[in-house]
Amino acid sequence: MEAITKGVAKLGAAVGLGTGDDDTRTQIDTGGNLQDFMGHPFEKNTQRSGGNLGGKVIRTSGGVTVTSNKDPEKRMRAVTWHGPKKIVMEERPRPMITDPTDAVLRVTSSAICGSDLHLYLGSAPGMQRGDVLGHEFMGFVEEVGPEVKHVKKGDRVVACFDIACGHCRSCSRGAFSGCDITNPSKDQEMMYGARTAGMFGYAHVTGGYEGGQTDYVRVPFADVNLLHVPKDLPDNKLLLLSDIMSTAWFANELGSVGPDTTVAIWGAGPGGILAAHSAQVRGAPRIILIDNQQYRLDHAAARIPGLDTINFGREKVKEALERLVPGGPDVCIEAVGFHYCKSLVHAVMVKTLMETDTADILNELIYCCRKGGTIACIGVYVGLVNGFNIGALMEKGLTLKAGQTPVQKYWGHLLEMVKSGKLDPTMIITHELPIEDAPHAYKIFNDKTDGCIKVVLKTGMGAPEQQQQHKEREQERMRWLRAALVYRMGQKQLARAWLVRAKAELTNLLALMRDMETRRSSLERAKK
Ligand SMILES: [Zn+2]
Ligand SMILES: [Zn+2]
Repeated sequence: MEAITKGVAKLGAAVGLGTGDDDTRTQIDTGGNLQDFMGHPFEKNTQRSGGNLGGKVIRTSGGVTVTSNKDPEKRMRAVTWHGPKKIVMEERPRPMITDPTDAVLRVTSSAICGSDLHLYLGSAPGMQRGDVLGHEFMGFVEEVGPEVKHVKKGDRVVACFDIACGHCRSCSRGAFSGCDITNPSKDQEMMYGARTAGMFGYAHVTGGYEGGQTDYVRVPFADVNLLHVPKDLPDNKLLLLSDIMSTAWFANELGSVGPDTTVAIWGAGPGGILAAHSAQVRGAPRIILIDNQQYRLDHAAARIPGLDTINFGREKVKEALERLVPGGPDVCIEAVGFHYCKSLVHAVMVKTLMETDTADILNELIYCCRKGGTIACIGVYVGLVNGFNIGALMEKGLTLKAGQTPVQKYWGHLLEMVKSGKLDPTMIITHELPIEDAPHAYKIFNDKTDGCIKVVLKTGMGAPEQQQQHKEREQERMRWLRAALVYRMGQKQLARAWLVRAKAELTNLLALMRDMETRRSSLERAKK
């Protein structure tokens, strides 16, 4: 057991995980003696060419070189988590290449995912103050390590949320989101009996990797986790291949949705709407979207012809579904996630820590699904639930499929469909904001205000002309700041001068009054 723990610690260090705070995250290069948590040699590191690829050496002792994976001289903006509902824009050192297979990306666009809201609300385990968020992002390759073969500086690419090595047992079977070596979290192994792939910007149980809601981000195993995209399509058409477009498609894959399946989807968020869009592209004859946010149902219905909607705040889901698809839908897609309680009893159990997740939504899917049908779950679940309707699942002969999307398996195919216009991920984007507005963006997305369904954050760090515009905007902002400062200083000086003058006037007035008083007294004395 001790050997395993040591292996885990070494692996954690090898993927650039923290031994301290964000700015001092380190990488340890033992010169190729690393083992994975099962005690096997850690293959990638045996290929390391000298280890330190630009990282500043912090210390060297006993043959171990510890290097910083940040360049303190170059700074960037980053969206960081500082507790429930507390998103802070911070300035951070830029990431550097720390492994021969890394790339550093200059981010042009990043999106806020529905699953980021679990982090925002503080209900996902393993977050630490200062964590950089974001797992949907794209941009231009800024720098690559010496072993990166398929991408080069200047390439326009989309990154996937799941970090895969491309050569382990899981990756070679196409199960990239279950990569065996990119997630060093011991906690996750204790919770689940195994580790999933590491993920960008998604808590320390998935590796604690810095996210992409920033100007620059390090992408490990760049050949596996970056997809080339054409330069003539706008960011918004391509960005969501990173996660939510691929995840929505994956839900349909889990349910084997096709021309002979009726589909009901719970949750009209970004994932649910794109799952409905995907189902239509795959030829599903009847698609029903369920939510209690009428504006989201209307938004989807206006863009997906023939879509049926159910507002569960206005009618009973089971009855409405029976009316639309007697006997129930063949495939029920869960695009909601673990913390949306519908019943008081589950709300109380979650609040009192008697369960971490709620089975409310899943139970409704099981209850409504046709006998022999399939439940496809893409909503995020992380822990334990009470009162799960296992009886109905078994007796109705349902199949329950769930999982994090192996994006790399689908995104090439999906890109072709985006290029041909068959798929249009932009249908869910309601807000495009500068990255500095991230705190506001998280708030409106979570509160479902301002008609918000999907927010894309822009860095203004795209093509050279965009960078020039960004620079000009920054210069203009600085000019205004300086002018405001000068004005305030001027105001202060004026105020000070006025105070000096007022004090002098007051002194004069007092002297005058004293003088008058003296005269009055001497007059009175003279009268006597
Ligand atoms: Zn996501
Ligand atoms: Zn792998």
